[in-house]
This record gives sequence, C-alpha cells and structure tokens, in this order.
Amino acid sequence: MSTPPALPASRLRPYRPGTSDPDWAVESIRARGVVLTRWHERLGELTDLRGNDPESRALLETLQFGARPARHRAGPPAALLERLREALRRQIDLIVEYGQLDLRGIEFYRALEADLVATPQADEEDPIGVLLERVCDQVHAFYEQAVGAPLGSSWPGITWKVVPTRLHPYQAGDPDLAPYTAAGSVALGEQQADVDVHIYAQHFGPEAYLSLPAILTHEVFAHVPAQPRRDHEPSIFTEGFLDWAAFTFFEASCRHLLRGAEGPALHHGRRLHDLRKGHPKFLRLGRTDEGDGLTPARRAGHQLAEAVVTWWERHNPELDGTAIRLRLAGLAARLNVHDGGLEMSAKDEFVTALSPRRPAMERALTHYFRDPTVGLDALLAASGVTTRGSR
Ligand SMILES: [Zn+2]
Repeated sequence: MSTPPALPASRLRPYRPGTSDPDWAVESIRARGVVLTRWHERLGELTDLRGNDPESRALLETLQFGARPARHRAGPPAALLERLREALRRQIDLIVEYGQLDLRGIEFYRALEADLVATPQADEEDPIGVLLERVCDQVHAFYEQAVGAPLGSSWPGITWKVVPTRLHPYQAGDPDLAPYTAAGSVALGEQQADVDVHIYAQHFGPEAYLSLPAILTHEVFAHVPAQPRRDHEPSIFTEGFLDWAAFTFFEASCRHLLRGAEGPALHHGRRLHDLRKGHPKFLRLGRTDEGDGLTPARRAGHQLAEAVVTWWERHNPELDGTAIRLRLAGLAARLNVHDGGLEMSAKDEFVTALSPRRPAMERALTHYFRDPTVGLDALLAASGVTTRGSR
C-alpha cells in the first residue's frame, strides 16, 4: 500500500496511552491482528474451505494460545509477536509432517508460513489502525460528496484505541455469535471523536477480524460526524436509519478496506449485522451501540429505508438498486451533519415520517432522488420537523 499523506483527510490520530509499560493484552491482540492481516487473502480458505479440518482448527487454536498475554512479563512488546510467529511456524511444521494433507494442502500451509516470515511491511505496526484509517478516508470522502462541499473543521479529529475486554463484548453464549468478539463505540466531544475498538482478549480470530470493516464503518459513518456533537441515546435515527446507511456504504466500499479479503469481510460483516438486528442477546447491552429497545429502533429504521428504496425502484426500473441505496444513504449522511438547530429527536421524527405513502414526503423524496444536491428544507418540512434555519 502507498504511504498515507502526512495529514489524512480523516484526521485520524493514534491514541497514545500515557504510560510506558507495554500493555500485554493490547499487544497480544495486535500480534494476532498482524498475523491475520498477513493471512487475510487466505482466511476464506482457512475458515470456510478447510474450516472443519483438524489441521485448520489446530492452527487457529495456536493463534489464540500463542498470543496469550503473559502475566508479569517484562521486555519489549514486539517479543509477543515473535513468540506467536514461532508457535505458528512450529504448528505448521507439525501439520505438514503429520496432517492428512494432499499436495495442494501442503502448499496451502507452506504459503501461510511464507506469509508469516515475509519481510515486515510498513503497515504492520497497527493493523486495526490501518483499517480504521481506510474506513475514515472512505467515509469522509462519501460525506463530502453527499454534502457537496469540503467538510473542513466540522469533521472532528479522531483518536482511537484498542480496549481489551475480559468478557465477550456481546456476552455470547451461543455458537453463532461466539466467534464475533469485536465491537466498537464512539465518545463525542466538541472537536473530537474517540473510537474504542473493544476486543475480547482471550479470543481474536478470523471472524472477529473480518467483521471489523463492518463494525468500524458503522462507528465512523453513524457516530463520528454526528451533529450536534454530543453522545446520543440509541434511537431510530442514530441506530436505525444511520445503521442502514452505514451498512449500505460498507457493502459498497468493502473492496477498498480489506483488499484481497473483501469476500470474507462482506460475509462476516453481513452475518454479524443480521445477528445484531434480531438477536435477543443484544437487547441486554447498554453501550453506545446497544441498549434496551434498540433492536426495534434498528429494525424500524431499516424497514423505512428499504420501503423508500423499493418505492423508487418501482418508479424507476431502469435504475440500479445499489445506486438508489447509496443516494438514500447520502441523505442519511447529510442529515447526520446537518445542524440547523435540529436536535437528534427532530432527526428521529424525520425518520419516522420517511414514507413515500405520505404525499408531501413523496414529492420531497422525488425531488431529492432526482437531484440529491437540493436543500433539506423541503424534506424536513414534509416530515413536519420545524427548524430554526438551515444551511
Ligand atoms: Zn451505533
């Protein structure tokens, strides 16, 4: 990959903790992230094609076991990555020597080994940071295009950190959800957004890694640019309509996020997304993203958006469905950064009224779909939302 510009458009800054002690839990997650990044073009074969083979399972177990954060360990953090690499190389030797493999299988595992020992790349230091930076750049570009003007300082500075968790972030007790051990949250300030990437320290494997593009896209798309700039209760706008828009954008931008692994990243992003929409486990959680009553808000926001897409598709059968979805996602983005004296509750009201079955809304939506650069006033008026002025 090319060297990122000195000041990326997304203004991403790595979080620097104020302590010199290496955090071994963070380091063990980073080490697994580095290995998963090096393997990402082969993760589909490792988990799907060979996912039920004892050889593949043993290797993935070693990935977890070899990166256990040591208690009371001193020394440079890089040692943990070296230990993990060595454990995996030994495991691959065992697999090749004793496994039930054909020639193609031997080639596959030797290729994994070659990826492990290849010369480090510039982006190896912080694979999650590299991914987040790509997400920020993609989302920022989409918002600028949707708004039709540079965002300038209205786009906040972004810091991020990995937060190792002692429990599964979704408290999963069932096998469907168990491998998805990563989650995100955003804390907003006047000029800044802090992205936390929560990862279960005991288990960070291919499914969690491959679900990160979808998770991070949701966090950056829905929460980082939010106006007004303060933390919000999950609602039909923040977790319904914006979640729908973020996922629509994720599906369109995934190929830029994990090149070579976009198929598996799409698959796991969709899988986690489906689990999040309806899974009862999610009703219990209380972070930015999850809370009581969230699942109905999420489902309602998605249904209203899909009804708009279906309506416009029916009237314009020559148009491509993805383009229609992205145009509506652009409306969600514009509304998200639209200040104009609107509170989040007014944006919720707008989403609730977002139905082409209302004649005024149908007219306003028709104008918007024909020319997505029109002002938001007509749409807001059609929803019955009153504003103190808009831009
Ligand atoms: Zn959210």
